[in-house]
Formats: sequence, structure tokens, C-alpha cells
Amino acid sequence: MSVCVVASVGVRASASKPREPSSQSSAPPSLISNRRQLLRGGLAAGLCLCCPPPLAALAQEAAAPSASSLAASPTILGRAQEVATVADGVGLPPWGYSCLDGPVNWSGVCATTGQQSPINLNYDARFPPAPDRKLSVLAPRFPRFIKAGATVKNSGHGTMQVNVPEGIEYELGPGGQKHRLLQFHFHTPSEHTVDGANLAMEAHLVHKNLETGNLAVLGVFIEGGGDLLPNPCIQEALRSAPTTPLAETQLQRPISLQTLLPKVRTADGMRPYAHYSGSLTTPPCSTGVDWYVFLDPLQINPDQVMDFMYFAGAGLKPGVNARPPQPLGDRNVTFFM
Ligand SMILES: [Zn+2]
Repeated sequence: MSVCVVASVGVRASASKPREPSSQSSAPPSLISNRRQLLRGGLAAGLCLCCPPPLAALAQEAAAPSASSLAASPTILGRAQEVATVADGVGLPPWGYSCLDGPVNWSGVCATTGQQSPINLNYDARFPPAPDRKLSVLAPRFPRFIKAGATVKNSGHGTMQVNVPEGIEYELGPGGQKHRLLQFHFHTPSEHTVDGANLAMEAHLVHKNLETGNLAVLGVFIEGGGDLLPNPCIQEALRSAPTTPLAETQLQRPISLQTLLPKVRTADGMRPYAHYSGSLTTPPCSTGVDWYVFLDPLQINPDQVMDFMYFAGAGLKPGVNARPPQPLGDRNVTFFM
């Protein structure tokens, strides 16, 4: 008998308002029903993470952090070379999202608890909204277009990663520290959850904080919505992404990063978000990563959601490339809303 954990893709119309516990699982999906049926079919066909008890037991055993494993994978130091190594996964044992190499079997820092990402975001009374609404404006000053120098890489781990040219820098976060955008990539379903529910996808815009050297990630929930036109940035990545693992190619058309952000909520430009300190969500799961996760989803054409799911499944079937939420531990989450 195996333990089968199926990724729950409860696509929500909005993740923006505090909800009562009773409403946590009742929000309607916005993927059209036949696509949801297809997704369910894909999940039933083998996208669940099935871990036979002996393997699960071994994984739990491995989850006990050893001093040597902690020493081998220190907190992100932020140097560009290390960032490149993290992005490429150079020197890591094989890992993925299947039964044999999935998150439950990731070792080293990944097996530690209390500082890992993603997490479930809920509006716990312990975490009242930040009092200063001005801090709620998280508005990265992207260039209007990236016209040249961007590449898209097949990560070999189910995602397409767009590496941007150097020099895209802006202030980010409540402290207004200067950050440099390094790359962005996607997960399906979302890695962070809201009130326990996944959304269809999540984009991660990975930055280096130029003042502290730490990494900072902007997380954007994504869901399919009605008959929307294709999102141009995601479409260009999908169109250009190589099917061969680890292959990388130039983006052919300009992209606008602004189209990767959810709509502003109010006239003052506010996009509600949650901030906490966590880790990379893929091996080596290094800690010291500042997370800023927008709470309102970006809506895109449902075909694009399905196209990315198939990309994650190597074109054969809808795939998954999401790590489940990790224990919050004694961390605080600040909601800017
Ligand atoms: Zn990611």
C-alpha cells in the first residue's frame, strides 16, 4: 500500500481578503470545467506523489538534520557565482518531484524545519496587517520592455527559467533596499497556498538584495481566467522554452515584466502581499531568502496554464513541480493589505 498525496489545485477567484475558516475550501475554481476535468484526469493518471511506506520511513529518517549536512549547505551568501550555482543545481544529488526523488526525499538543509519555503499563508490573528498602508505599495520599477539579452532555459526540473540581462535594479520591500532581478520561473500548482488551497501556478521573480547580499523572491499566484488574451510575457517564455532539459535559448521578442504582476487593488497602487523569511523551494533549499508573495492572483488565459502544466510534464502529460508547504515554526508573517 502506498501513501498518495495529490496536489490540490483549488483555484481561487481571489486570495486577497481574510476568510473565515468555514470558507476556506468553498471558493469556486476559475479554470473552465473541461480543463479541470483534464487536470483531474492527469492527476489520477499518476501525478500524485506516491511514497511506499519504506521509502517514506527512510525519508523521515533522513529528515533529521546532521551537523555535516547543515555545514555543507550554508545560508545563501548572495554572490553572483553562488546564485548561478543555485539556479543550475550544480553539484546537487539528483532531485525532482516524483516518488523516488520528490520533496519528501530531499536531504540536507531541505530536511530541516522552521525556516523553509513555501508556507501556507493564512490570516492568522497572530499576524495583524502592517499598520502603515504606504508600506503596502510593492511596486518594482521594471524597465518598460526587455528588448534583448534575455534567455529562457529548460531547468530540467519541470520549469522554464527566464534569465534576464544584467542591470535591472530597483528598490524593493518595506525597507526600500536596492535589488537586482536575476531570473524568473514558474511552478504548477502554486507552491505557497492560501488558507490551505493551491492556485494553478506561481511565478517566482528571483532577486539579489544589493545591500545585504541575500536573495529576495517576489511570488505571484497565477490562475486561468475566462477568455483572457494570452499573457504576453508567459506566452513568449512558453513559445521559446526548449523542450530539451538544460537547453537554453534567446527570447525572440521583447517582454514586459509588468504583465507578470497582478492588478493593483486601489488607486494608490496597492497590491496586497505577505512577507516572511524563508528559503529556496528547490535543493539546496538555502535559507535567508526574503519572500514577498502577492495575495491577489494574476489571471491569464487558461490555455497557458495547461500549456505550462504540460511543459512541467515534459510535454507528455500535465506535470507538477511544486514543493508542498513547510512548517512555519516560530516565524512571523507580515501581511501588507
Ligand atoms: Zn521557484
